[in-house]
Order: sequence, then C-alpha cells, then structure tokens
Amino acid sequence: MDFCFTEEQEAFRREVRDFLDGELKAGLWEPTCDAWIQGHDPEFSKRMAGKGWIGLTWPTEYGGQGRSHIDRLILTEELLRSGAPAACHWFADRQVGGAILQSGTDELKQELLPRITRAEAFFGVSISEPGTGSDVASLQARAAEDGDYYVLNGQKTWTSCAIYAHYFYIVLRTDPDAPKHRGISEFIVDAKAPGVSLVPMVDITGTEAWNDLFLDNVRVHKKYLIGEKNRGFYQIVRQLDYERSGMERVMGNYALFDAIIRHSKETGLSNDPIIRSKLAQLQIEFDIGRLLCYRVASVMEEGKAPNRESSISKAYCTEFEKRLASVAVDVLGPYGQLTAGSKFVPVRGLGAHSYLGSKGYSLQGGTTEILKNIIATRGLGLPSE
Ligand SMILES: Cc1cc2nc3c(=O)[nH]c(=O)nc-3n(C[C@H](O)[C@H](O)[C@H](O)COP(=O)(O)OP(=O)(O)OC[C@H]3O[C@@H](n4cnc5c(N)ncnc54)[C@H](O)[C@@H]3O)c2cc1C
Repeated sequence: MDFCFTEEQEAFRREVRDFLDGELKAGLWEPTCDAWIQGHDPEFSKRMAGKGWIGLTWPTEYGGQGRSHIDRLILTEELLRSGAPAACHWFADRQVGGAILQSGTDELKQELLPRITRAEAFFGVSISEPGTGSDVASLQARAAEDGDYYVLNGQKTWTSCAIYAHYFYIVLRTDPDAPKHRGISEFIVDAKAPGVSLVPMVDITGTEAWNDLFLDNVRVHKKYLIGEKNRGFYQIVRQLDYERSGMERVMGNYALFDAIIRHSKETGLSNDPIIRSKLAQLQIEFDIGRLLCYRVASVMEEGKAPNRESSISKAYCTEFEKRLASVAVDVLGPYGQLTAGSKFVPVRGLGAHSYLGSKGYSLQGGTTEILKNIIATRGLGLPSE
C-alpha cells in the first residue's frame, strides 16, 4: 500500500495552496470555521471558477476539467485548511451537479453545468421539511402535473445557501397515492420564481445560514425534473453519498484546530501533560478522519457509489469535530466562551462558535444513528428489522 500522492497531485496541492495563500496575504478574506457552509463570497467563487476549480471532476463537455476525485479532495482539503469562503458554490459542486450528471437530461446538463462551473449558478439544497428529516420518504410538499409544468406547494426547512442561491434543488411528492418511497421526485427550481419565499432561521450560533422555504403555486417546467418521475428517492440516496463524503466533515473547524495548537505553543500550555495529551489525541483522530475521506474518494475513483464508506467517514468525522470543539474550549478556558475576537487570544470567537455549531454536524446530512443503520445493513449485511 502506497500512501503517497503522485508528483502531479503534490504539484496541484502546491498550486491551490499558493493561490489561497496569495488571497489571504492580499486580505481578500479572513479564515473562519464553517466557511464551506457559512462563508458566502460570490467574488471568491468567481475566482475559483476562473481557475477551473468548480466542477473539477465533471466532463469537459459540460465545463468541467475531467480530473480525478482525489484531485478534488486535495482541492477541498486546501480550501478547508485555509478557511476560504467557498459556500456559494459548495453545494452545486459537491452534490447538485453530480445529481444532474447522474440523472438529468442532456438539455439540463448543457443548461446548468457550465453555468455552475462559471460560478453563475449557486444552489441551495432543500430536502427536509418541518415534519421530515431522517425519514426522507415521509415528505409532504407536493408537485402536481399541469400540462408542461408542475405546480409546487408546501414548506421546506433548513435550506442551505438560500439567500445567495440562484436555484434550489428540491425534493417533492409527485404521487401521493403510491407507497411513500415510490412517489417522490427531484426538481430544480428558480429561486426567483413567483411563489418562492424564504424566512431566515437563526441557529444556536446566531448565524442565519439556513432558511425555511415556502412554495405557493410555483410553476416549474417539466424539463427541470431530474431523472425519472417518482424515482427520486432512489436517486437521492446517491446524492446523499456525495453530501456525506467530503473533507468538510473533518475540517470544518480547521481554523480552530490550527489556532489552539498555535495558542498552546505560544502560551506554554503545550508543556502541560494533560493539554499535550489532548492535542495529540486530536491529531491522531484528525489523521484517521482524513484517511477515511481519501478512502471515500478512492471508491468514487473506481466508479463505485461510496455508500457505506461515506457513512463511516461522516459518522466518525462529525464526532471528531465535536471533540475538537470541546477540547478547544478546555484549552482556551474563559476565552473559549467569547463570541467575538479578543486582544488576548487570537481565535476570534472560533471556540464558542464551533462548540455551539458542532452540535448540528451529526444531524445535517443524516444523523449518526441513521449512518450507523446504513453501516449495519448495507455495510455489514445485518437485517434491517
Ligand atoms: C445545521 C443543519 C443544517 C442542515 N442543512 C440542511 C440542508 O441544507 N438541507 C436540508 O434539506 N436539510 C438540512 N438539515 C436538516 C437535516 O437533514 C435534519 O435535521 C436531519 O436529517 C435529521 O432530521 P430531524 O431533525 O427531523 O430529526 P429526526 O429525523 O426527527 O430524528 C430525531 C432523532 O431520532 C433519531 N432517529 C430518527 N430515525 C431513526 C431511526 N430509523 N433509527 C435510529 N434513530 C433514528 C435521529 O438520529 C435523531 O437523533 C440541516 C440540519 C442542521 C442541524
């Protein structure tokens, strides 16, 4: 087993790192925690597009670069390491583009994928409803056929990237009489379509990164149905594999990890054997989580769906993130509770933000219990009942 990267991969990592270092030195943004999901900066996404770094693995005929999944993981790892504000394009790049590529018509691919790669089309993901989370098949928001259109009604919740999105990826019930897994379809909906409205949700960190989304007789042309009508549930499973598979699950708070290690060295705290031990343990866990993410990318590279692998990596990595946040507030002491920057400790409120925000990591994208069910049934072949 050779754990080394190829020369080309190392060169690509250097290229990405140099680019991001240059942006940082120029003061174009400041590294933060959760930047992949809360750091919205359309201009940064445009510069990424200019480098050809959105849709990196997609076929060139749709604006992509046809590069490997390992290359994409190197790119996302460097973005997360630097805390770059990549949220505007993250969801389209990570999962919506993949869903369109997998199941969309050629017309839909031609219309949307090149625009995503040019950072002209940002997406929010809208699956959950007030009464529907883990059991996606129980969703109630409807799409009813009307000639060449569908008419959409209902409420979605926890919609990411909503105020920056040009489009939403929305999952809706298209056959209320069919068994619940067989009457669901995936749609692309223009964020400005009449009848679409948003109400911001303020989360425990005080951030408004998510929204309730209301659909009131929204008309969507049939060409914006992804794949087969009523087969959406089976398509979503693949899409969720992409959602769960990335380095953001272990590096969402890398800025904090980096800050507490530096802070411990600068203040001499790292000489305390208890603190040393806690930091060493975190480093070991981080290294394991990182390798689990590369394992997922290797499976994708083989053209397989990383179903159990992405469940293992997300379950492990999000629990690591919670432990990181907990150690961070221990190490920072009272400063860890500050929600804004302090002249004494250069962590800009990252400890408090991460401690509060990390509670949601093992819920978003599928809870740890649901992931363990997947590992048990599809990984270990245990019976589902
Ligand atoms: C920060 C954050 C961001 C999010 N972003 C998005 C987004 O962008 N788009 C979107 O559509 N949704 C988003 N969500 C919603 C998220 O997908 C749901 O919260 C998640 O799927 C859990 O659903 P729920 O909250 O309804 O909990 P429930 O499904 O009601 O679960 C409650 C508890 O019961 C457990 N449970 C449920 N079913 C089982 C079972 N079969 N076996 C064992 N245990 C079970 C769960 O693990 C959980 O502990 C986000 C959520 C959060 C917290």
